[in-house]
Amino acid sequence: MPNTVDTAHIQSLDSAHFLHPFTDFKDLNARGAKVITKAEGIYIWDSEGNRLLDAMSGLWCVSVGYGRKELADAAHQQMMALPYYNSFFQTTNVPAATLAAKLASLAPKVDGRSFEHVFYSSSGSESNDSNVRMVRRYWDLLGQPQRKVIISRHNGYHGSTMAAASLSGMSYMHAQGDLPIPNITHIEQPYFFENARSGETSDEFGLRAAGWLEAKILEVGPDKVAAFIGEPVQGAGGVIIPPATYWPEIQRIVDKYGILLISDEVICAFGRLGHWFAYEKFGYKPDLVTFAKGVTSGYIPLGGVLVGDRVAKVLIEQGGEFNHGYTYSGHPVACAVALANLQIMESENLPERVRTDLGPYLASKYAALNEHPLVAHAESCGFVAGLVLVKDKRTGERFDPDLSVGMLCRKHCFANGLVMRAVGDRMIIAPPLVMTHAQIDEMVALILLCLDLTW
Ligand code: PLP
Repeated sequence: MPNTVDTAHIQSLDSAHFLHPFTDFKDLNARGAKVITKAEGIYIWDSEGNRLLDAMSGLWCVSVGYGRKELADAAHQQMMALPYYNSFFQTTNVPAATLAAKLASLAPKVDGRSFEHVFYSSSGSESNDSNVRMVRRYWDLLGQPQRKVIISRHNGYHGSTMAAASLSGMSYMHAQGDLPIPNITHIEQPYFFENARSGETSDEFGLRAAGWLEAKILEVGPDKVAAFIGEPVQGAGGVIIPPATYWPEIQRIVDKYGILLISDEVICAFGRLGHWFAYEKFGYKPDLVTFAKGVTSGYIPLGGVLVGDRVAKVLIEQGGEFNHGYTYSGHPVACAVALANLQIMESENLPERVRTDLGPYLASKYAALNEHPLVAHAESCGFVAGLVLVKDKRTGERFDPDLSVGMLCRKHCFANGLVMRAVGDRMIIAPPLVMTHAQIDEMVALILLCLDLTW
């Protein structure tokens, strides 16, 4: 690709004016941001003409791959017809209503419970803020205003606004900005590799980890707990895949105490784990489901909450006006792009392809990575995967966190044409769902090369 971008100029504008999210500004200014200029399929290009295989789908977003004309066409057509109109004052628009019905039809019903309603936002963070508002409103309307506490998990990620960052279990986020806000508390994550006792099976660990929820409910007082929120598989925390026993036991516990269950599927929905929604895979019945990212494959911002019957009935029949919402709730262009994106996913059968073909193929390749001297544990679930890098595989000795082995590995990835994300000593991927087997082979060969260079 010809280099038509003046990299140094863009970098100087960037460092002078653009404060990047989750970034050490001074450090970035010293090195200069990589300027990404174009993308096609599963590859991105920087302004120097280097091609990188994007094993992170941007930021867990670009499920249908880059360069899909159908999505650009949908945005163009909708912009020409109706680029924006609000949905506050008793108006709606065609894409927003159509998409809400489509999402309702895609969400699997479990034990007769269905999701007939959608509350829209523009991001995962906003959606989780909406969850906090809806959950509190629900219990107020039921005459139990003391039920305010939402339980979440350490190392879970639910976003970066004040409420969503509070739900997130990242201590480094809480350390800035006096978080969490009141009435949000955390339990430990179900991370087998780190938290299992010696000799404990995965199933035993899953039950014990779910038990931490019951202990917390009893500590807080069951009549004060409003909801539990979790990601089906923790993504930003490092692709932490829970044992099979975990979610069914969580379901048993929330049922026992009558508390609401929120499934944050910002990463896991829309085929990423081989299902339209991941609660189906793990066999639980949430009351609210957060979505964003994959709903538009990241081509345009859109998020929201699928509102299950239990909550919707109370909000609609008893609620009166709900004093919450966003200028861009039900944005017509974002919803039109989402409809076109879901149509691609349906016509290319992406959830099923991940479930029956791509996911198992990736799993077999990842199993082989366990042979590498640097890898203590490699695992995948659908089309997310993680590797734990250790200093000494025999003893399990971990790297000094300050040396950041992950950042070193990521540097080798960047230099060798691969985007893979580092979370401490875990290397994680979430590739586009449109990969071929040959492209999975190519990605795994690059991962091996970068592991060798890190070793
Ligand atoms: N929830 C989960 C599970 C996420 O992974 C993320 C982002 O990665 C969010 C919420 C926040 O989404 P956003 O960055 O769109 O606000």
